[in-house]
Amino acid sequence: MRNLSRGDRGKEVLDVQTRLRGRGFELGREGVDGFFGPSTELAVRSFQQERGLVVDGVLGANSWRELVEAGYELGDRLLYLREPPFRGDDVLALQVKLNLLGFNAGAERGVHDADVERAVIDFQRNAGLPLDGIVGESTLVKLEAVRKAESGREGKKIPERDGGFVPARSLVGQTVVIDPGHGGADAGCVSAGGVAEKDVTLALGRRTAELLRAEGCRVHLTRERDQALALYTRAETANAASADFVLSLHCNFNESPEARGGACYYFQRGHYYSEHGRRLAGYIGGRLARGGPFIGRFGRNYGVLREARGIAVQVEPLFLSCPEEARAAMRPDRTEALARALVGGLADYLARASQREGAS
Ligand SMILES: [Zn+2]
Repeated sequence: MRNLSRGDRGKEVLDVQTRLRGRGFELGREGVDGFFGPSTELAVRSFQQERGLVVDGVLGANSWRELVEAGYELGDRLLYLREPPFRGDDVLALQVKLNLLGFNAGAERGVHDADVERAVIDFQRNAGLPLDGIVGESTLVKLEAVRKAESGREGKKIPERDGGFVPARSLVGQTVVIDPGHGGADAGCVSAGGVAEKDVTLALGRRTAELLRAEGCRVHLTRERDQALALYTRAETANAASADFVLSLHCNFNESPEARGGACYYFQRGHYYSEHGRRLAGYIGGRLARGGPFIGRFGRNYGVLREARGIAVQVEPLFLSCPEEARAAMRPDRTEALARALVGGLADYLARASQREGAS
């Protein structure tokens, strides 16, 4: 589906409006009229805010996916392990219920993966149900009954998304997937002077890969040239490589040319966040801060952060809307400094992680 934004009209807009209204978002006087006007844009922005997405009022691939997933309630469809996996708020609700009852359904990502299936079968065994791993009516009824009996005992520890992760001491032997954002027809954001995000992320990704390989890492790039990638391809590359770490690279953009500096993001959805992702974002941020302004680290529900199984962070080292930062963005010395900050942050994370382990 093409990106939808202010001024668009047609059946796709009608679909979006219907879904937004179904989620309780106000469409004002315009209503469901198939025209993407100011009220629709406001509703899209509110939805993006609520779901931890980039709040830009544009309905791109990630927002569209969230909007579709938001429409599923537990019980709407049979859930089981399949490829591609079921994704949606119904899966998320299932995970939350299972986790609250102490069955480890993994990170609350809303993706029905092998962790969820294991927890479902575990629950079925406990409840005396057939062990088919299918979440249908009998399993849901039982789940609700147990939940009622257990109510008041909530607050059990939610399993860490990076469960089982053993910190290593150094970069040697680590598998790192670098994901240069955008590519091909999707240029990402473009500075007033014509610098495209897809080129900045590719140059930075390539140089970072070289430096990491020199440190003894196994490195995969999701793209090595100017090419478009489908929504899930990036995370699938990371998962196929069994990535220990995923570095997703983007640039920032703001209406104000004054906005500047780096920012790092880790996976967060509602109350759930990746502890290790947050730490790694902090260490990379610490290194970026040595070379210029750094805004901070933030929890976000971005596609790659959610879907990748390794410790994933998204790094936006600069604003292409800031003339000064945009001018420097493709300069080799700037690329070099940023690549070194990424590698240094990863090394810091690994060194501290092993210290912590040694101290306990
Ligand atoms: Zn981007």
